[in-house]
Amino acid sequence: MTAQATQQRDLTVVIGLEVHVQLETDTKVFCGCSTDLADADPNTHTCPTCLGLPGALPVLNEAAVESAVKLGKAIDAEIPQQTRFHRKNYYYPDLPKDFQITQYDAPICQDGRLEIGVEGERREIGIERAHLEEDPGSLQHAGGNIETAEHTLVNYNRAGVPLMEIVTEPDFRSPKETRAFLAKLEEVLEYLGVFDSTRDGSLRIDANISLVPGEEVEESGAIGAATLAAANRTEVKNISSHKGAEKALAYEVTRQRNARRRGREIEQETRHWDESRGITVSMRSKEDEKDYRYFPEADLPVLKVADWTESIDIPELPEARRERFREEYGLDAEAASKLTSTKQVADFYEDVASDFDPGLAATWVADDLLGELNYRDMRIADIEGRLDDVRRLIELVDEGLITAKNAREVVLREMLDSRTDPDAVVESEGLGKTDDEAVAAAVEEAIEENPEAVADVEAGDDGAINFLVGQVMGKTGGSADPGRVNQLLRERL
Ligand code: ADP
Ligand code: ZN
Ligand code: MG
Repeated sequence: MTAQATQQRDLTVVIGLEVHVQLETDTKVFCGCSTDLADADPNTHTCPTCLGLPGALPVLNEAAVESAVKLGKAIDAEIPQQTRFHRKNYYYPDLPKDFQITQYDAPICQDGRLEIGVEGERREIGIERAHLEEDPGSLQHAGGNIETAEHTLVNYNRAGVPLMEIVTEPDFRSPKETRAFLAKLEEVLEYLGVFDSTRDGSLRIDANISLVPGEEVEESGAIGAATLAAANRTEVKNISSHKGAEKALAYEVTRQRNARRRGREIEQETRHWDESRGITVSMRSKEDEKDYRYFPEADLPVLKVADWTESIDIPELPEARRERFREEYGLDAEAASKLTSTKQVADFYEDVASDFDPGLAATWVADDLLGELNYRDMRIADIEGRLDDVRRLIELVDEGLITAKNAREVVLREMLDSRTDPDAVVESEGLGKTDDEAVAAAVEEAIEENPEAVADVEAGDDGAINFLVGQVMGKTGGSADPGRVNQLLRERL
């Protein structure tokens, strides 16, 4: 191996993320405009405050602060007694005030952590800070992109939507780890009820990446501050998904390795992730902090969160709940993981498990219900108002009123497809388990109609009994219990 090749192999990948997540609040962070923007016409969810008109004052949304505190608790962060807001000054057409209200020297969450699992290994990722800020508006380049468009439209509906910017320590050692982190972060945020991953633009990621000589990495895996500062890094912007982050970073690892192999320096710069081409391109505009002229936001008082923080509770988080499900309900790892995939699924499972056998409940919720929902590209949230119907279906099976097979293959599917309740489906499909008398009558009929099969059975041909069971099942429309039919036939013959 050449000296250069050895050097290549000895480079350690170092990544740190800056993640913007949209907080789920009904109204914007500094005004009363609705955040329900899905079908809104441009510039209809605006007011003097979020349009930045002279004299309009911001009023902080309590719900946004509460969400921020919940996030802080979930990532085990320090939440200071007091926190405050700053103005970050820059000019851009989507920013009508010419500054963004954000946090600077006293963010609401400091020094937290989140544990991830990657290929069976546990890794703790440090979170330097998470701060509350407002989103700017959005630009729409008519008929093309920023370079080719004839003109650009601006929509201020998004202006003032609450965001948390979560800044990690440079603790990732591979693109794959960032993907695991993003999935975990989203899971936690959704559990807290402060985030909706299905919302457009609810997650935006900037990824910082550098390569550090292997000999600078301590045995524990730690890397000194001086080494980190000395490493030339690129910041990749415009990433909007977990998969995108992994792909963009894998591209950067290769690009930086190749540059080094050719003896070129890595330039410290901002790059843009071009999702459709699968490459990063240089934007050459790494702003410096001093360019923003941060100064305290005088229109908002210091925010005292100390007492308030104590009164804000967070629910049991996914990891802990998974463990508890395994212990309390005796579930295997796979079932426990499926049943805690979202808070709603977990809540529903516990609700069912409190009334029925936890194992039966697990099969119904994890396999049958989630399986059928998945097949229809639905989530449990889509049938939120109909969970009582699902409970009733499980009850019908539990009480032996219908067979599990019919419940699963006919009733549940019909319920989801045509929105009918389970009793109505059982009725219309005639699935109620036939009572013993009717089964006995069908047995008599089958015996009368099939003398040859009867003779075969009497001659000791056990296969013939299966034929007779089939005949009886046919006569009862499949609703009889095949075991019971078998038993009745044997008693008769
Ligand atoms: P800046 O001065 O550019 O704001 P910060 O120290 O605040 O730099 O870090 C910004 C982001 O860059 C953080 O997510 C951090 O983890 C990451 N980062 C810092 N050093 C490195 C490095 N050597 N390689 C990759 N990412 C890094
Ligand atoms: Zn507004
Ligand atoms: Mg910084």
